Amino acid sequence: MKVCKFGGSSLADAEQFKKVKNIVLSDDARSFVVPSAPGKRYKTDIKVTDLLYACYDKSVRGMSFENEFNMISERFNEIKNQLSLTLDIDYELEKIKNEIPLKNRDYASSRGEYLNGKLLAEYLGFEFVDSFDIMIFDYEGVLLDDKTRRAVRKRLENVEKAVIPGFYGRDMGNNVRTFSRGGSDITGSLIAYALGADIYENWTDVSGFLLADPRIVENPVGIETVSYSELRELSYMGANVLHEEATFPVRKAGIPINVRNTNRPEDMGTMIVPDNAARESTFALTGISGKKDFAIVTITKERMNSDLGFARRALHVFEALSIPIEHMPAGIDTLSVVIHQNDLREKRDMLITEIKRTLGAVELFFTENISLIAVVGRTMSRDISSSARMFTALASKHIDLKLIDQGSSISSIIIGVDNDNFEPAINAIYGEFFR
Ligand code: ASP
Repeated sequence: MKVCKFGGSSLADAEQFKKVKNIVLSDDARSFVVPSAPGKRYKTDIKVTDLLYACYDKSVRGMSFENEFNMISERFNEIKNQLSLTLDIDYELEKIKNEIPLKNRDYASSRGEYLNGKLLAEYLGFEFVDSFDIMIFDYEGVLLDDKTRRAVRKRLENVEKAVIPGFYGRDMGNNVRTFSRGGSDITGSLIAYALGADIYENWTDVSGFLLADPRIVENPVGIETVSYSELRELSYMGANVLHEEATFPVRKAGIPINVRNTNRPEDMGTMIVPDNAARESTFALTGISGKKDFAIVTITKERMNSDLGFARRALHVFEALSIPIEHMPAGIDTLSVVIHQNDLREKRDMLITEIKRTLGAVELFFTENISLIAVVGRTMSRDISSSARMFTALASKHIDLKLIDQGSSISSIIIGVDNDNFEPAINAIYGEFFR
C-alpha cells in the first residue's frame, strides 16, 4: 500500500489534476492521496494558501478581502468546470468566506487543502476524509502523535481509497490547526506511518534531490538513493525538497520515501531509505550541500585538556547570550565554535567580555565570512581515497581550508572555506567525482 502526497504545483490547475489522476490510477497500491492547496501555475502566480492568509489578515484589520477571495474562487471554479465535477463549490466557498472573519488564521489558511481535497476526491472517485477528524494537536498547536495515530487507524480501518487533505488538523478545543508552511509533507508521512504503508510517495515538481545545487553546479546528476541520516545532513546544509519534519514519522517505522516528479512520472526520483537498507552507492558521494556566512570563534588556552569543566563553561557563555552553536571542532589546546555570522556581528562585544570573564586568560580569535560545505556519502568515512580525492581537488584549485570536521558522523565531512571560495569549492569537489 502506498500513501501519495501531491504538492501545490502538482495540483495547481485542471491539467495538473489530470496528470495526478493518471499517476494514482496507474497503480492500484496508491490508496491514500494527500493533496496540498493549488500552488503556482507560473512564476509570478500566487499560491492559494498565500491568498487565504491575505484574506484573513485583511479581515482582522476590518478591511474587505473581496479581491483576494475572488481570485481563490476563480481558481477552484476553473478546476471544477474544466474537469466537469459536480461538487457545489460555490456553496463551500460562500461558507468559508463567511467563516474567515469568525475563525482563526489556521482555519483560513487550511481551506486551500480542504477544497482541493474535495475536488480531487470526486475526480478520483475516492472517499474524502477530513484531516480535521484525524490529525490531533494540543492546545499549543503541537501534534499529539499517539492520538493522531489512533485516530488515523480507526477512521481509515475500513476505507480502501481516500483523499485526505494535507497541512491541517484540529486541536483539543476543536479549532483548526496547521503545521508550518509546506506541512502537507508531514500529513502524508503521518498517514503512511499510522497505516504502515510500504512506501510514502512524495510527488513534486522536481525529479528528487540533485547531487548539488543547480544554481552552483551546471546540470548536476540526481541522487538515486539516500539514507535518512544522509538526507538529514544534506537538508541541514540547505538541500530543501521535503519539509524537515516530514521524515521523522516514516523514519520511525522504516518506511522509505520516494520523491518523484508529477511532470515526469517516468523518472524514478530519489529513494530515501532506512540507514541499514542503504546499499553501497554507485558513487562515492551522495550529495554536496552548503551554506554561507558563518564565523569561527577560536578559543585557545594552554593545557586546556587538564582544565576540568572548560568546555562546559565556554558553551555556557554561548547559551547565556542565546547564540546557537552549529559545530564545534576541537584541537589540543583550542576549541573552535562555529556560529552564524549575524550572531557574531550583533553580539561580538558581549561575547568577548563574557568569555574573558568566565574563562579567564584565553586567546580569542575570530574568522569571519566562512562557508560550510557538507560532503555526504555513506562510504566516506571508510574510504580514505574519497577524502584524498576531495582534498586534492580543492588543493589543485588553490582553495584553502579553514576547518575540517568529520566529527562523529560516519557519513559526512564538513569543510569550511572562505565565502569567496564557496562556489569554486563545490564545483571542484563535484568535478572530481562526477565529470
Ligand atoms: N499549502 C501549504 C503551504 O503553502 C502547505 C503545503 O503546501 O504543504 O505552505
